[in-house]
Amino acid sequence: MKKDIRAYTYEQLAAEMEQIGEKKFRAKQIYEWLHVKLADSFEEMTNLSKALREKLEAEYEILPVKMLERQISKIDATNKFLFQLSDGNVVESVLMRYKHGNSVCISSQVGCRMGCRFCASTIGGLERNLSPSEMLGQIYQIQKITGERVSNVVVMGTGEPMDNYENFLTFVRMLTDEHGLHISQRNLTVSTCGIVPKIRELAMEHLQITLALSLHGSTQEKRKQLMPVANKYDLQEVLKACDFYFQETGRRVTFEYSLVHGVNDTQEDAEELIGILKSRNCHLNLIPVNPIKERDFQQPSRKNALNFKNKLEKSGINVTIRREMGADIDGACGQLRRRYVKTENE
Ligand code: SAH
Repeated sequence: MKKDIRAYTYEQLAAEMEQIGEKKFRAKQIYEWLHVKLADSFEEMTNLSKALREKLEAEYEILPVKMLERQISKIDATNKFLFQLSDGNVVESVLMRYKHGNSVCISSQVGCRMGCRFCASTIGGLERNLSPSEMLGQIYQIQKITGERVSNVVVMGTGEPMDNYENFLTFVRMLTDEHGLHISQRNLTVSTCGIVPKIRELAMEHLQITLALSLHGSTQEKRKQLMPVANKYDLQEVLKACDFYFQETGRRVTFEYSLVHGVNDTQEDAEELIGILKSRNCHLNLIPVNPIKERDFQQPSRKNALNFKNKLEKSGINVTIRREMGADIDGACGQLRRRYVKTENE
C-alpha cells in the first residue's frame, strides 16, 4: 500500500527522504509543494526530476479531499463545503468571512460519539477519526477553491477533537509549522465538550491556541441533560481543567453556551452561570441553538437571548451572542453531511 505523503511532519519527511536515499533538501521542496503550494499531485512538483517524481509516485500518494458540494450564502457569503475522503466518507467544512480575515471551521472526525442532545453530527455515531492530513486537506482545498488566504481556523465542525487527540495535535503542529501554511497558533481555536484528561494534556503542551469549552449548562444536572459526557466528567472537574489551561498557557478560555428555549435560558440559569464565570478571566459565547429536525429544541426569542446576555454583561462578564452565519444554507453543524449520508442510504 502506498503511504500518504501529506501525513508526515517536516521532520518525519526529512527522515523518510533520507531513508529512500534522497538528499535532505528534497524534503524541504516536497513539503513546500504539499503544504504551501498545496499540490494535489506529484506531477505538479516541477523542480523535482522526473525520475524522483516517478519514484515518489510509486511509493506514496497524496490522499484526495475532494469537493462534492459547495453552498454559498446570499446573506453573508459564508461557504459550506462537503468533501469526500479517499474511502468514500464525507465531512463538511465552513468558510466564514469576517472583517479581520477568512476563518475556516473544520471537522475532526467522521461523525461523533459524544451524543450531545441538540447536535446533528452525533446522531449516526462515530464512523472514524480523521488523519492530520485530512484535517489539513479541508483547509488547503478551501484556500485553493476560493483563491483566498485562510487566516483563522476553528476546530468546531463534526467530531470531538479531544477524542482524536494525537492526530489533532499533529495537525496543529503542521498547520502552524513555519515550513507550511504557518498559521499563527493564536489564530487557532479548538472546541471540546470537556474531556478533562485531554484538556490537561493539551495545557501541558503550552501552545498558544484558544480553548473553547462547550458548557451549555450551568449546573452538573443541567449539563447532564444535554451532554452525556457530563456523566463521565463532573462540571467542577471540567472547570478546574479550564483554569489549569489558562494557568499553563496564559490563554483566556472561551465558554460556549447554546441557548435552548425553556431548557437553559431562564434568569435562574443566567444567575448560576454568573456564579461560575465571574471569578474567571474568560469569554462567553452564547449560541442560540440551531434547531435540527431530529430533535425538538427551539431557540429563545431574540428578546430573551438579549435579556440573558444583558444580565451576564451587567455582572462584568465578557459576553457575545454568536452571529448566525449562512442562515440560508444547511446551517447547523452536521446537517449537510447528514442530508448526504441519508440520500446515499435511501
Ligand atoms: N465536539 C466539540 C466541537 C464540535 S461542536 C464540542 O463539543 O465542542 C462545536 C460547538 O457547536 C459546540 O459548542 C457544540 O455544542 C455546538 N453545537 C452543536 N450543535 C449545535 C446546534 N444545533 N446549535 C447550536 N450549537 C450547536
